[in-house]
Amino acid sequence: MNVPTTQGVLDAGARLAAEAARFTSFGWMRGTSGNLSEVVTRDPLRLAVTASGLDKGELTASDVAVVGPDGGPVEVGGIAPLTPSAEAGLHARIAGLTGADAIVHVHALNAVLAGHHWPGGVRLRDVETLKGIGRLAHDDEVVIPVIVNSQDMNELGDRFEAAYDPRTPAVIVADHGLYTWAPTLKRARHVTECVEWLLAYAIAIR
Ligand SMILES: [Zn+2]
Repeated sequence: MNVPTTQGVLDAGARLAAEAARFTSFGWMRGTSGNLSEVVTRDPLRLAVTASGLDKGELTASDVAVVGPDGGPVEVGGIAPLTPSAEAGLHARIAGLTGADAIVHVHALNAVLAGHHWPGGVRLRDVETLKGIGRLAHDDEVVIPVIVNSQDMNELGDRFEAAYDPRTPAVIVADHGLYTWAPTLKRARHVTECVEWLLAYAIAIR
């Protein structure tokens, strides 16, 4: 057992704010959409997640909420209680299931377009950039799963669990956006950039 420290949460918040600003500049977090999280403790599971309703290009280190395994807010001394994203429950579910310590959720247009074109999953193979998501550049058929959207995070979490392939660090939520995960936030950034590129490529050559 350990407990999240104020400094640990603020450090995570600073990293989340920096990534959110980067993704906003890419046009992947329009309006106040999307959310990012980092695991701050595993036992019990606690995540720092970007707070709801804020411009993701203007976050500061303290614009985070701490949530437990169900996505509900957990109080940490020295951290102002902000409302976590409504999607925090899915972040916690992904962290628990995949073991990843960083989760990225963006409303990247190419993810929504790809989900529209291939509701049964996006098939990719024989592209060098697949190496960027831990797969092979040749003779490796990769399927990015597509799950049906829901406002109920338990339902969405069940769909995620059913679609999850441990070899593929990304899932598209149809008519909504993209989730990716990795051991670190920087690695999750690289995965997100590569997946978005691969989806743009698949759409362009279809
Ligand atoms: Zn979303």
